[in-house]
Amino acid sequence: MKKTTNDDNSSQQINYNRLFEGIRGFKANEHIPKKEFFAQLGKHQNPHTLYIGCSDSRVVPNLVTGTIPGELFVVRNIGNFVPFYDKNSDTFVATSAVIEYAVKQLQVDNIVVCGHSNCGGCEALYKSAKEMKDLPHTKKWLELAAPVKKIVEEQIAKNVISIEDRSTYTEQMNVVVQISHLMKYPYIRKLLKQGELTIMGWWYNIEEGEIYNYDDELKRFIRVE
Ligand SMILES: [Zn+2]
Repeated sequence: MKKTTNDDNSSQQINYNRLFEGIRGFKANEHIPKKEFFAQLGKHQNPHTLYIGCSDSRVVPNLVTGTIPGELFVVRNIGNFVPFYDKNSDTFVATSAVIEYAVKQLQVDNIVVCGHSNCGGCEALYKSAKEMKDLPHTKKWLELAAPVKKIVEEQIAKNVISIEDRSTYTEQMNVVVQISHLMKYPYIRKLLKQGELTIMGWWYNIEEGEIYNYDDELKRFIRVE
């Protein structure tokens, strides 16, 4: 539910119409011409990649990877975070369950953790307790990036990075840290060791339309050419 003033009512109406027009357009322009594809797709899924991305509306996994339905198993959350591994944990399980199911059940070949430019989740790490007062669940969720904030603040204190670069550095460091969380999942570690799983860290620059892939040896993000 959103606030409702008269102005909002009319813009909500436009948004509703836009969604229903979109459904009709999908049927006519996408589904009907590819009926056979969807008939096959409906029977089962065999995605090759688990995509862990941010919920941000501007980051659309299939669009930026040029993939079609059935290829990506997706979990999106604020800040593209990966919960700390804990076998008996009963927190953050929405994301942990997706990781578990994708790796153990669907046996994906790849995991991508994709961050992005101008990420509100990463920015929120620097907000005060007062600013987060009305967002208790968001605040709880941001605990998963506490190690990222610590690293970034240390680097700023040492003048390794400037305050102007804080956002980009946080977004990229966040990807690296979330991958380190993934590496602590015993079943993921095992598959990596056996060469049966690949993990990639990406940072997507929205304005440029570029994806930067983390190079583990160079310890930096390299633009995908
Ligand atoms: Zn984001």
